[in-house]
Amino acid sequence: MPVYIVLLGPPGAGKGTQAGIVSEKLGLAHVSSGDIFRENIKNQTELGKLAEGFINRGALVPDDVTIDMIRERLSRADCLRGALLDGYPRTPPQAEALDHMLANFGGKVDVVPYIQVDEAELVNRLSGRWTCRAEGHIYHMVFNPPKQAGICDVDGSELYQREDDSRETVQHRIHVYFEQTAPLSEYYRKQGQLVEVNGAQNIEKVTADLLAALPESAKNGR
Ligand code: ADP
Ligand code: AMP
Repeated sequence: MPVYIVLLGPPGAGKGTQAGIVSEKLGLAHVSSGDIFRENIKNQTELGKLAEGFINRGALVPDDVTIDMIRERLSRADCLRGALLDGYPRTPPQAEALDHMLANFGGKVDVVPYIQVDEAELVNRLSGRWTCRAEGHIYHMVFNPPKQAGICDVDGSELYQREDDSRETVQHRIHVYFEQTAPLSEYYRKQGQLVEVNGAQNIEKVTADLLAALPESAKNGR
């Protein structure tokens, strides 16, 4: 059976950072809805043009578009063993749609690590985030700097600051998170899938706690 892990947490909690590390360790596809949207914006596809305005002002892209995009992504060959989802779902309809689509793929949401970080720290993290132009590798000017300023350690591409990481947009994104996404923690808690992880530790410690919180089935495949 495929294994599906959903990383939950506010913007800046460290979902993308941890998903990059853990997906590699477990050999699972890393599916980041934000990365897929940014790739589409870069290529100016129809989806990218539609999503761009929502993203730049820190709003959510409409559910129907987002759900279709994730269904298509999860049906690709590299997700046959499952996936680590980062940034999806973000609303109750997206969570319900995910349950349905995974049932069709012969799986279910196995575990939902919820990475918790205080709001003040989120702003510090997002305002110092630098992102790699080519592949979306994530850095922080203080907490996780690249070896050479402005250059990605992994692929040598340029690092940039996301437009939606400006201070005003960050505040709005955190507000949107509390309004629309935070209720999902209750949804997954009720289904027995939620595990809480303290995100206010260094990156290595968060990874260790995250791996420790995964059931054996999620670590080994089944
Ligand atoms: P998310 O995907 O949840 O929005 P990111 O993984 O992009 O969060 O992390 C946001 C910022 O915080 C990035 O600049 C990243 O380098 C930094 N960061 C991630 N995890 C930690 C951590 N445990 N301690 C300090 N900074 C972190
Ligand atoms: P992220 O890279 O996860 O921080 O996402 C960046 C932006 O992409 C968000 O602020 C939203 O505008 C959009 N986005 C990403 N994932 C979703 C989703 N599941 N639903 C709606 N919008 C999303």
